[in-house]
Amino acid sequence: MAAEPFILCENLVKIYRIEEAHGSSAKSTEVQALQGLDLTVARGEMVGVVGASGSGKSTLLNILGGLDRPTGGRAFVDGKELGRMTRAELDHYRLEKVGFVWQQAGRNLIPYLTALENVGLPLMISGRLDQNARRRPAELLRMVELEERAHHRLEELSGGEQQRVAIAIALANQPCLLLADEPTGELDTATAQTIFDLLRKLNQMLKLTIVIVSHDTTIANRVDRVVAVRDGKLASETVRKTVKGAGKGEEHHLVELLVLDSAGRLQIPREHLERYKIQRRVQLEETRRGILIRPPEYETGASEAAGAGSAEPAVSESAAAWDDAPEPWNLADRSRQAVLRVWNRIRPGKKPVRDEKEGGA
Ligand code: ADP
Ligand code: MG
Repeated sequence: MAAEPFILCENLVKIYRIEEAHGSSAKSTEVQALQGLDLTVARGEMVGVVGASGSGKSTLLNILGGLDRPTGGRAFVDGKELGRMTRAELDHYRLEKVGFVWQQAGRNLIPYLTALENVGLPLMISGRLDQNARRRPAELLRMVELEERAHHRLEELSGGEQQRVAIAIALANQPCLLLADEPTGELDTATAQTIFDLLRKLNQMLKLTIVIVSHDTTIANRVDRVVAVRDGKLASETVRKTVKGAGKGEEHHLVELLVLDSAGRLQIPREHLERYKIQRRVQLEETRRGILIRPPEYETGASEAAGAGSAEPAVSESAAAWDDAPEPWNLADRSRQAVLRVWNRIRPGKKPVRDEKEGGA
């Protein structure tokens, strides 16, 4: 049995209600920031969260950080359901279990204190800055590679250095989860890279679970997995797949996978819907390697989209290639054996073809 996920979100819903006053009457509108989001994160995993502005990324992080409560669904961190915690339990959770890094360094820090004093603050609040723990702030600054700036006031530090202090603060109480909401959003590319590298180092060194929201398109290369949020739901995941290279060594490929929700529903990216003129319904067609999703043949417009016009989608060729593939050797073992069984059945009287992997008999 697989280990229980460290973070588990099931059908998470968040609705914000906005009251607007119009003269004497008040109008209330609802914003569905999360619309049934499912997510699992393993202990020690570093996950990136991407998605258009307004798709619900910050809402998700705020719920995971215990700063906001879900309207529906459930969110568990380390086996505890956040929505069921009392106010006191949530305070404890925020102080002891989770560290938060925001986009604006100013939100994390106090400008007229030095880096060292800033890092000492959360330790003081949690009563940990006793005689024995005097060294802890310096140790934290060393962890984020900023010890030589310890006595500089915040306003004397660069944006990247301020984010390092913010990370040190987030780590002060030894949380098991670090949440970062666009921590490099206001940094230049080179500095952003050093912050990502630092987070990766901390993830590995401290076995810290990290969820990081980012606009950086290269984030997939720096984390274990990237999940994309679209309209308040998890839309896809990008994982790194390691394969044997053509020459020696390994090659890394990024593979984007669509995610099914708990009811088996799938969200097809809008650009695909437009490109294939898919509207309300689709037809599923079984091929040897999987299921082809396409517009129904008899619906208006569908034939043009799927036809031999100039803009014929590339995927139909690859789907045809699946079906025309003469040999099933490239298939995963199990499906290869299934295909061989069918192949042998439709070749009566001939010597059956054996899978060399099954041995001679
Ligand atoms: P992202 O971080 O992906 O840009 P957010 O989670 O901040 O998205 O927002 C998702 C949606 O919820 C947006 O439409 C946003 O306007 C709305 N929203 C977020 N926070 C609040 C709030 N406190 N009150 C009302 N609406 C909000
Ligand atoms: Mg946001």
